[in-house]
Amino acid sequence: MKLSYYCSSCKKENYLKTSAPDRYAFLIEYGKNEINERCKHCGNHTKKDINRLHAEPNNIIIVGGVILAIIITVFLWDFGFVSTLSGTIPIGIWVDQNKKTNLFNRSRVR
Ligand SMILES: [Zn+2]
Repeated sequence: MKLSYYCSSCKKENYLKTSAPDRYAFLIEYGKNEINERCKHCGNHTKKDINRLHAEPNNIIIVGGVILAIIITVFLWDFGFVSTLSGTIPIGIWVDQNKKTNLFNRSRVR
């Protein structure tokens, strides 16, 4: 999962990577209830309240799931059951990612 915020100077989107399941865990991970990160586009430091960060699904994980499904499909082809498994994996990963981001976005810290 990644957390996005907009630079206060150039208004471009920046990302923070996290493994925290919700804002409270992110607060503990980050150590402060306000981020102060350098913009990747213009170098300006942006301060943002953790509550204003927006979680987004990690597309790399979803793409990884699709690739994994393709590999599994190729492997299982010889066995004759391409079946549900190859379709279920990417959908499962996608649903899981969405659940995680929703949980994060719903959570609030003081
Ligand atoms: Zn910027």
